[in-house]
Amino acid sequence: MSERRVIYLDHAATTRVDPRVVEAMLPYFTERYGNASAIYSLGREARQALDQARAGVAEVFNCSPKEIVFTSCGTESDNLAIRGVAWMNRERGDHIITSSIEHHAVSHTCEQLEKQFGFNVTYVPVDEYGRVDPGDVEKATTDGTVLISIMYANNEVGTIEPISEIGEIARNYGIPFHTDAVQAAGSLSLDVQELNVDLLTLSSHKFYGPKGVGVLYVREGLGLMPVQTGGGHENDLRSGTENVPYIVGLAKALTLVEERREEESQRLAALRDHLTDGVLSSIPHSRLMGHPSERLPNNANFVFEHVEGEGILLSLDMQGIAASSGSACSTGSAGPSHVLLAMGVQPSVAHGSVRMTLGRENTEEDVDRVLGVLPGIVERLRALSPLYAG
Ligand code: PLP
Repeated sequence: MSERRVIYLDHAATTRVDPRVVEAMLPYFTERYGNASAIYSLGREARQALDQARAGVAEVFNCSPKEIVFTSCGTESDNLAIRGVAWMNRERGDHIITSSIEHHAVSHTCEQLEKQFGFNVTYVPVDEYGRVDPGDVEKATTDGTVLISIMYANNEVGTIEPISEIGEIARNYGIPFHTDAVQAAGSLSLDVQELNVDLLTLSSHKFYGPKGVGVLYVREGLGLMPVQTGGGHENDLRSGTENVPYIVGLAKALTLVEERREEESQRLAALRDHLTDGVLSSIPHSRLMGHPSERLPNNANFVFEHVEGEGILLSLDMQGIAASSGSACSTGSAGPSHVLLAMGVQPSVAHGSVRMTLGRENTEEDVDRVLGVLPGIVERLRALSPLYAG
């Protein structure tokens, strides 16, 4: 049997680790394995690697290395940002503003603060393209608002949010501002000064780094209560022996994607447009979800009426094509996407959603292959649907 290369179109879910990243990590497992807190040379070597990684990330963020906190994933960074600020400021107020299309790492954390800790949360709406209106954020502020958390780019539909405008509003009102930038790395600028953010979340496995390591930018002087207490690592904000090989991997991966960010974004945007044009012109009753221009260069999210997204994904898989029905990060969720519903898409239509997110290894031939099989798949599935009359 000949081995066919899988056409991987799910880079928003995770990415293949760059071999240069693996190479940078390897010595820290078996040779330079010291504890970064130890004073002998093995420990000092680990500390040096950690310092270098921190400086590398800080350079990309345009901030001080002191403002970088390494965590175990994007979810943990989001939890630390939101709970840390909310708990620290409990005496000052109990109000949080977020959007209705956040990743569950943000929305479920806010919901828990509401249900278990008595906070009030405003979920600002989005328009039909998934954009938050900064004016709505401003209107939602109260004297008791202690945190605003709005994602940089949406993981399902790829819409980019007006982060620096929202950040300006937050600054004018003296409210800490967090952004979940997990999907933005490698595509958009992560300059925290330009973005006007006080807290920013990243996750290494979305930009060709290893899974299980993340980072949180915390602006100097911002009060944050640690969620995980212990030996006082990471500036006392995230205790736990530092995972040196993974942190080295995260920093290496971030530096590598940042180096080629602009040219790679252009290349992917051209491929995405080819995919979008091909799908919309060859498949009736198909629509592109998300913003027409303010969207990530690698994201194409379609809905196909009168057909289940899951059926399309299984048929694509049989053709060696890996795509997703939206968020791959929420295990076992069967209902339609909360993001599409917030954008006003009918639940019956939202079921026909397919997300394709391109990456480094994708070529024009890959897109042509998808365009070669997808119209037939949708047509076949629709023919089986009792509701579809053509
Ligand atoms: N935030 C967004 C926008 C994401 O897309 C994801 C993962 O898909 C996360 C947070 C969670 O990151 P992690 O998988 O590292 O916990």
